[in-house]
Amino acid sequence: MSFTQFNLHPQINAGIEALGYKTPTPIQMQSIPAIIQGRDVMGLAQTGTGKTAAFALPILQRLMNGPGKMVRALIVAPTRELAEQINESINEMSRSTKLKSVALYGGVSKNPQIEKLRQGAEIIVACPGRLLDLVAQGVADLSGIEVFVLDEADRMFDMGFLPEIRKITKQLPEKRQTLLFSATMPADIRSLAKDILHDPLTIRI
Ligand code: AMP
Repeated sequence: MSFTQFNLHPQINAGIEALGYKTPTPIQMQSIPAIIQGRDVMGLAQTGTGKTAAFALPILQRLMNGPGKMVRALIVAPTRELAEQINESINEMSRSTKLKSVALYGGVSKNPQIEKLRQGAEIIVACPGRLLDLVAQGVADLSGIEVFVLDEADRMFDMGFLPEIRKITKQLPEKRQTLLFSATMPADIRSLAKDILHDPLTIRI
């Protein structure tokens, strides 16, 4: 099995090749076709399974068509380190495309993040607090979001981010694709998933 089976855009395949990925991991095999079809997905998977590419590659595929320089995909992660890591992976996968991703998280100055947003990005990878801050400031516009990813939802819940997650989802268009990844599925995450996912495909790795 190889990545060519997904019929991804040649510029995305170039990114996969540059990363040295030869064979899709099990979560990539299951998620990529479903996400390309537009399904909502609930992925029960740990870090290290290749879940970043499992959601990022189909997002890049979608963003290759349609308008550029406007934010169309939002990925929310619990920590700065994870947000940085996802953003870097996306930058590598999209290196042969014109797509731009920006990471927004607290604990550092806002200005460079604001400047990157102003230059035009199609993807935001963010931690909840700084994202809401920049939305309230009118700098980050979530009204054009087509795909929303909630990564490590259980960790997000453990860190007390559930109210922020609810606030963020209220800012998003009703009509969108939502992908939720979590290593475990406690009752609170199940209830959140029920509220924000529409007829999801559940993938367990
Ligand atoms: P993740 O679970 O997304 O954090 O990925 C874990 C590690 O596996 C990262 O270092 C990725 O670069 C790597 N990786 C993801 N998908 C593949 C693949 N299909 N082949 C080889 N390495 C991969």
